[in-house]
Amino acid sequence: MLSLNCSSCGATVNFHSKASVFAVCSFCKSTLVRHDMNLEAVGEMADLQDDWSPFQIGSQGVFDGKKFELVGRLRIAYSAGFWNEWFAWFDGERTAWLAEAQGFLALCFSSDTIAPNKDTLQPGKALTLAGQTFRVDDMRKVSCLFSEGELPVNAIKDRRSLSVDLRGPSDTMATIEYPVRSTISGVADEQPRVFVGKYKDFDEFKFKNLRKLDGW
Ligand SMILES: [Zn+2]
Repeated sequence: MLSLNCSSCGATVNFHSKASVFAVCSFCKSTLVRHDMNLEAVGEMADLQDDWSPFQIGSQGVFDGKKFELVGRLRIAYSAGFWNEWFAWFDGERTAWLAEAQGFLALCFSSDTIAPNKDTLQPGKALTLAGQTFRVDDMRKVSCLFSEGELPVNAIKDRRSLSVDLRGPSDTMATIEYPVRSTISGVADEQPRVFVGKYKDFDEFKFKNLRKLDGW
């Protein structure tokens, strides 16, 4: 684990994953971009209102027999609501995203498959990604509403993208994220990112260190 100091308040900011390039200081809430061993403060994150998630930074789970820990979170907003994407870190540098939306959970891994041109996509269209057949379920303009912990993307508030959800046979799923050109200085343009994974039931993850919710 890499431990650096917040450039605003000096508090320790831990990076479990070498892939993490962004963090929110848990003390002063500065948003920090990591340049190798240096952190640059680029803004401040407001507190999250009405957090209904049972998860928190430090929650642990199991996927395919391997333990992971949630080390970061994005709250993603779209026109009709929002969902959480938790950045999951496995021992040995593997990382994944746990998507938490309206009572379902999916864990997906980054794929080096080239994303199709977004102009060729529409709901219902079938396509092959990473050797599997998927069908486009939904296409939504989204923005980052909140972030915390460490993340492999520049998760500045209002970061915008087009999110395409795809479903495959059995419980397989995929997501493609097409970043919208950023107007925020210091944020490099990013390539579309493809993730492939599976829907699973809550109990299958054998979660530990969950957040205590009022009324539970
Ligand atoms: Zn700080």
